[in-house]
Amino acid sequence: MERIVVVGAGQAAGWAVSTLRQEGFTGEIHVVSDENQIFYERPPLSKQVLSKEATYDSLNLFSPEQIDAFSIHLHKPDRATQIDRVSQQVTLESGKVLAYDKLLIATGSRARVPANTWKDIPNVVTLRDVQDCERLAKRLDTAQSVAIVGGGWIGLEIAATARKQGKTVDVFEYAERLCAR
Ligand SMILES: Cc1cc2nc3c(=O)[nH]c(=O)nc-3n(C[C@H](O)[C@H](O)[C@H](O)COP(=O)(O)OP(=O)(O)OC[C@H]3O[C@@H](n4cnc5c(N)ncnc54)[C@H](O)[C@@H]3O)c2cc1C
Repeated sequence: MERIVVVGAGQAAGWAVSTLRQEGFTGEIHVVSDENQIFYERPPLSKQVLSKEATYDSLNLFSPEQIDAFSIHLHKPDRATQIDRVSQQVTLESGKVLAYDKLLIATGSRARVPANTWKDIPNVVTLRDVQDCERLAKRLDTAQSVAIVGGGWIGLEIAATARKQGKTVDVFEYAERLCAR
């Protein structure tokens, strides 16, 4: 039986799995996710979810029944750490090794921090996933002032939410203007 391994379980992975089944792929689909919540959209994290107008469940692309119907083998939370293209195998952090006929890498992107040492500072947070959002929302509950590094859409959306909550906000941006990219 043909086997497709999908690394990552974000929006791209979710729609790829759905399309594969819709178009009649009957082989095995293995999905590797380093997050617990799978197949969800991130845009509301910096908008309605951060401002508590929407729940984390509302982010889900599919109902549990739809996910059941995809009939996937889910490896979570686990992380793909190595790909061997010659033997067509993916190694996971847990030690599992998954052979594949086709491999889809849908690992998205990650938040950049100005220096690695920033990761160890307790009141520095990034916003990329559900866990980050929970951490940031909790911090915002008690913060009086917020410094935002990055004046792109996500930074400004967080700024707007923080301002609505009455916080003082400073935005730091190294480009000449906001949202330049
Ligand atoms: C806060 C926020 C707001 C946004 N707002 C907008 C918006 O308003 N409009 C818009 O168009 N876009 C927006 N985006 C961007 C949009 O969410 C992304 O373009 C989209 O999520 C990309 O989907 P993806 O499936 O490629 O990657 P992702 O959604 O990032 O999913 C990748 C998944 O792979 C996992 N992963 C990574 N490496 C591994 C590994 N080695 N093993 C296992 N799993 C792994 C990641 O943890 C993640 O769960 C926003 C993003 C964020 C974070």
